[in-house]
Amino acid sequence: MAEKCFKYVILGGGVAAGYAAREFAKQGVKPGELAVISKEAVAPYERPALSKAYLFPEGAARLPGFHVCVGSGGERLLPEWYTDKGIALILSTEIVKADLASKTLISAAGETFKYHILIIATGSTVIRLTDFGVQGADAKNISYLREIDDADKLIEAIKAKKNGKAVIVGGGYIGLELGAVMKINNFDVSMVYPEPWCMPRLFTSGIAAFYESYYENKGIKIIKGTVAVGFTADANGEVKEVKLKDGRVLEADIVVVGVGGRPLTVLFKGQVEEEKGGIKTDGFFKTSVPDVYAVGDVATFPMKLYNEMRRVEHVDHARKSAEQAVKAIYASQQGNSIDEYDYLPYFYSRSFDLSWQFYGDNVGDTVLFGDNNPTSPKPKFGSYWIKDGKVVGAFLENGTPEENKAIAKVARVQPLAESLDILAKEGLTFACKI
Ligand SMILES: Cc1cc2nc3c(=O)[nH]c(=O)nc-3n(C[C@H](O)[C@H](O)[C@H](O)COP(=O)(O)OP(=O)(O)OC[C@H]3O[C@@H](n4cnc5c(N)ncnc54)[C@H](O)[C@@H]3O)c2cc1C
Repeated sequence: MAEKCFKYVILGGGVAAGYAAREFAKQGVKPGELAVISKEAVAPYERPALSKAYLFPEGAARLPGFHVCVGSGGERLLPEWYTDKGIALILSTEIVKADLASKTLISAAGETFKYHILIIATGSTVIRLTDFGVQGADAKNISYLREIDDADKLIEAIKAKKNGKAVIVGGGYIGLELGAVMKINNFDVSMVYPEPWCMPRLFTSGIAAFYESYYENKGIKIIKGTVAVGFTADANGEVKEVKLKDGRVLEADIVVVGVGGRPLTVLFKGQVEEEKGGIKTDGFFKTSVPDVYAVGDVATFPMKLYNEMRRVEHVDHARKSAEQAVKAIYASQQGNSIDEYDYLPYFYSRSFDLSWQFYGDNVGDTVLFGDNNPTSPKPKFGSYWIKDGKVVGAFLENGTPEENKAIAKVARVQPLAESLDILAKEGLTFACKI
């Protein structure tokens, strides 16, 4: 099979790939120089839509509506955009071998791609219950959600099992978003997770109490402190029951599992330096291998603000790291330099009528402020995280754009907090003064 050569190759066709392609175009990439290679069948899109509007029973989001870069208010890059720019969008092509020494990628179909500069943007894959040998976890209608194909399969199951019972395994943001969306689809929903409250990696018990009550008021059953240890299936091999460690058995027509992800670095094992589970980069997303960059979920990069190497699985970082890498590539070709990446962690989620944003670091003491009564007509509340007397993180439910900007500024500036009591009393006013 003929070999294809490109000056630049982006491996992966997700969020980071799309934003990198746009930055290449801004920097003046010439026709024929750039290829985007993706195992997905569609051009890069805003992945967060998959667990939100894509699954709505009415007015659902559909491609081409959410191709990048609409998620950050930019131009929508349709497949024609890539053609117009002379960018090769090579879809439905999984790379199964990467040899960084010879700058060669080989696809499952046996095609060979050569590059001068490679950007690794392979993202993450879901952790599956079959990975842990959970009994019956390969039954039909046990779903995971990472790519558009997964979402399409889930939609088929929702149609086939109309008004049925759904069990959500996992209490992270994916579990919470999917619990909401299954309820909106008129399923009888139960959520199961082992932790004492939902989203424990970010939420305090106070924040979580609001969301758990809100969900329960919507009719979602929340079962905490236990895990799914097995599944039974009917004669068609379709899931019928979820067996819990505490002995309970839940009926289920659909199970959706959201128990975390893992960065897709396997192609590069032993060829590039890794740290904290990701590919180690500098503040320009350069890896330990010359001419190889890594961006998005796979990169472990220096988080300047906290003077620490971190890996971040958030869409905002996927976008910004991709742009940073491409800017750095062009700057170095022109003998220029750009500023090191200086990222402020930003994460958000939406479900039902709720919408929260978080900025900064969730370490240290916390205070809760505002109206966190789940039955209020318009609850608005938040939390600050305080470390060494400084406010280092801020969370806000139902903030206006200006209020969200204010909490972002707090997390960036890290102002001193006089006392936790005063901070709790001032709440949003504190942020708006900064
Ligand atoms: C359902 C869902 C909802 C989310 N919601 C939010 C949210 O609300 N807020 C938030 O901040 N973040 C959210 N995220 C996280 C966010 O989407 C990711 O952090 C972001 O997509 C990472 O971008 P990426 O380009 O690194 O990886 P991805 O967007 O995952 O892209 C990776 C791409 O690489 C391709 N690929 C991988 N391996 C190969 C290979 N060997 N050959 C060819 N192609 C390959 C994949 O098919 C995919 O196209 C969500 C994620 C999911 C799955």
